[in-house]
Amino acid sequence: MSGLRLMAVHAHPDDESSKGAATTAKYAAEGNDVLVVSLTGGERGSILNPAMDVPGVLDRIEEVRREEMAEAARALGVKHHWLGFVDSGLPEGDPLPPVPEGSFALVPLEEATEALVRVVREFKPHVMTTYDENGGYPHPDHIMCHKVSVAAFEAAGDPERFPDAGEPWTPLKLYYDHGFSIQRMEVFADEYERIGEPFPMQEWLDRFRSMAAARGDIMARVTTQIECAKYFPQRDDALRAHATQIDPNGAFFAIPMDMQQRLWPTEEFELAQTRVRTEIPETDLFAGIREAEDARTALEDAPR
Ligand SMILES: [Zn+2]
Repeated sequence: MSGLRLMAVHAHPDDESSKGAATTAKYAAEGNDVLVVSLTGGERGSILNPAMDVPGVLDRIEEVRREEMAEAARALGVKHHWLGFVDSGLPEGDPLPPVPEGSFALVPLEEATEALVRVVREFKPHVMTTYDENGGYPHPDHIMCHKVSVAAFEAAGDPERFPDAGEPWTPLKLYYDHGFSIQRMEVFADEYERIGEPFPMQEWLDRFRSMAAARGDIMARVTTQIECAKYFPQRDDALRAHATQIDPNGAFFAIPMDMQQRLWPTEEFELAQTRVRTEIPETDLFAGIREAEDARTALEDAPR
C-alpha cells in the first residue's frame, strides 16, 4: 500500500467516467485512496441514451443519477462525495438564455470554495485534479469547477482562510485533465485508414479540429501521461453505469478496446501547480511526492 490520496473534482456525475477515469481506477487498484467529488447532482442532464428515454425515468432523474453514480464509483473502485450544488444545465440558443436561479454557476465563489475546502481538509489529498480554465468543455459548471478547485487548492492549507472549515491541509499538486486530444483521435483515424475502414469518430475529429484552430491541440499543454490501458474496461463499465447519459452504441464506445489499449494506452494531464520538485514530462501524478514521503519516512525511521 502506497497510501497516498488523490482527489478528482468534477462538475457532474458522469464527468468522472469520461475524464481521467482509468487513472483513478489505476491509483485505487494500486492501494491509494481515491475520492471523486461531484460538485453538482446533474439534475438538469437530459436523457441522452434513447434506450433510457422511457416513462418513469425523467420523473425521478435525481434519484436515477445518484444510483448511476454509485454504480460508476463501484466500477472504478473509488470513493465518492456529493458537494450538493445544483446543476446549471447547458444553456443553448442564440443569444444564450441566462443560467437558472439557484444554479451552481451563480453560487458566490467564496461559498463554493469553502464547501470544497471542507472536503479537502477532511480527505487530505496529496494531489487534486480538475479542468482547465476553459472547463475542458464550455459548460458553465465546468468553468466554475475550475475556479472552485483552484481556489480550494490555494486556500485549504491557509489557516486564515475559512477557519470554520476544518484543520488546514496543503495539497501538493494540482492537475488539469485533458481527455480530448486531436493527436489521439488522429492516431485512431490513421489506423482505420490503414485497415481500409471508415473512421467512426470522423465527426468528432472534425469538431475538435475546428475548435483547435483557435487554441491549438491540447497535447501542447500535457505534462503528464499516465499508463492505464489495463483499466480501460473499468472506465467503460463506469461510463455504461451512467445509462441515462451515455449511449452504449455511441461514439464513446466506437473504437475497439484492444485498438485503444495498443495505440493510445495513456490518459493525459497538465501539471498546473506544484509545491514539490518534479521533472516534466511525468508518468505519475504522485511524482515528487513519493520521494518526499519516502525521505520523510526514512528520516523518521533513522536511528538517532
Ligand atoms: Zn459535466
